[in-house]
Amino acid sequence: MKVIIIGGGIIGLSIGRSFLKKGYSVTIIDKDEIGRGASWTSGGMLAPQSEGLDKGVFLDLCIESRDMYRGFIEEIEDETGVETGYWESGIVCPAFSEDEADLLKRRLEIYRSEGLTGKWLDRKELEEIYSPLGSSILGGVLYDRDGQVDSRAILKALVTSVKNLNAEIINNCRVLEVEERDGIFSGIKTEKGYIEGDLCVVCAGAWSGQIVDIPVYPIKGEMLAVSTEGRPLDKIFYSSKAYIIPRKDRSRIVVGATEENVGFKEGNTVRGIKKLLEGLVSSLPDMEYRDLIEIWYGYRPSTPDLLPVLGKTKIEDLYIATGHHRNGILLAPVTAKIISDLIVERKESVYTQTFSYKRFER
Ligand SMILES: Cc1cc2nc3c(=O)[nH]c(=O)nc-3n(C[C@H](O)[C@H](O)[C@H](O)COP(=O)(O)OP(=O)(O)OC[C@H]3O[C@@H](n4cnc5c(N)ncnc54)[C@H](O)[C@@H]3O)c2cc1C
Repeated sequence: MKVIIIGGGIIGLSIGRSFLKKGYSVTIIDKDEIGRGASWTSGGMLAPQSEGLDKGVFLDLCIESRDMYRGFIEEIEDETGVETGYWESGIVCPAFSEDEADLLKRRLEIYRSEGLTGKWLDRKELEEIYSPLGSSILGGVLYDRDGQVDSRAILKALVTSVKNLNAEIINNCRVLEVEERDGIFSGIKTEKGYIEGDLCVVCAGAWSGQIVDIPVYPIKGEMLAVSTEGRPLDKIFYSSKAYIIPRKDRSRIVVGATEENVGFKEGNTVRGIKKLLEGLVSSLPDMEYRDLIEIWYGYRPSTPDLLPVLGKTKIEDLYIATGHHRNGILLAPVTAKIISDLIVERKESVYTQTFSYKRFER
C-alpha cells in the first residue's frame, strides 16, 4: 500500500512517520525541501492554555496533543538521537492592565473548572521568575503545563526519523493536481511527472487550497531572535504584546509574532519587527541590550473559522490534514493519530466530525 504525503512540514512528517511505523510504503513530496515551511519558522510553543482557547472540542484536541507530547518526543529522540529542545518550561501570561488581569483571571477559573492547572502570581512573585519586569506589568498567570519544543530541532528529528524508516523523499517538486478515477484517488500530477499511489494525504500547509477545493489561506507572522547573555530566562512570557521564548539549549531567545492577512507577501517589515521589539522591551526591559541574531517570517495555514481541517475529502482515498493556524506544532501528535486511526482502522472520531471539510461546503 503506497501512501503519498503532499507537504513535508511537521504535519506531513508526523503523519508519514506513523504510516511508516505501521509498515506502509510512504512518499513525502515537497515543493521545497522537507522540514521547512511554516513549521520551521514557528515559535514551537505548546500552549493551549496560554493561547486562551475557549472551552470546547478544539481546546480538548489541543490538550490531548499536549498530553501526548512527552511520549512523542521520547520516541523520536530515542529513534534518531536528535535533541528536540522539548521543555515543560511553563508559560507566564503577564497582564499590562486591570482589564487584562480580569480576563486572565476569568480564563484561569474556567480552565480550573475543566480540571486544568494554573495560578495567578502578583508582580512580586513574577519578579522572582525574571526581573526587571516592564513597569506596567501588574501580575500574571503561570500555566505550568504549557511549554515548548524547538521547532527547527523537532523538524530535523522528524526528517531523520522518516529517512531512517525508509520513506521516499522527493524535494523541490511542486504538486500541481490530485487525480481521481471514478471518484477514487489515483495519483498526483507534479511539475516533474505523474506519481501513482493508493492513498494520499494533503498536508501542504497554507498552500493546501491550491491543491484541493478547501478554503485554506496564509496568515503571515514575523519573528526575531535575540542573544542569551545576561540573566537566564527559564519561562516563556506570552502577552498581548509579544511572546518571548528562551530555548532550552540557551542558544537564543525567540520573539514572536505578528499576524497579517497579506497573502504570500515575502520579507520582514520595519513595522513588524518594531512591534516585536517594543513588545519584548515593554515586557522584559533589559532585553534591549541583547544582540539581535535573526529575523524571519512564515505563513500559518488558516481557514475561515481558524480551525483545522482533518480527515476525508470528497474524493475517496484522498485525505486532508491542514488549517492548524497558530497551533500546528502543538497539534502534530494528535493529528498523526487521528489520520492514522481513520485510514488504518477506519475509526471516525468527534475530531474528524467537528473538523471535517464539509463545514465549508455551500
Ligand atoms: C510565525 C509563526 C509562529 C508560529 N508559532 C507557533 C507556536 O508557537 N506553536 C504552534 O503550535 N504553532 C505555531 N505556528 C503555527 C505552525 O507553525 C503551523 O500551524 C504548522 O507549522 C503547520 O504545519 P504544516 O506541516 O501544516 O505546514 P508547513 O510547515 O507550512 O508545511 C507545508 C509544506 O507543504 C509544502 N507544499 C506546499 N504546497 C506544495 C505543493 N503544491 N507541492 C508540494 N509541496 C507543497 C511546503 O513547501 C511546506 O514544506 C506558528 C506559525 C508561524 C508562521
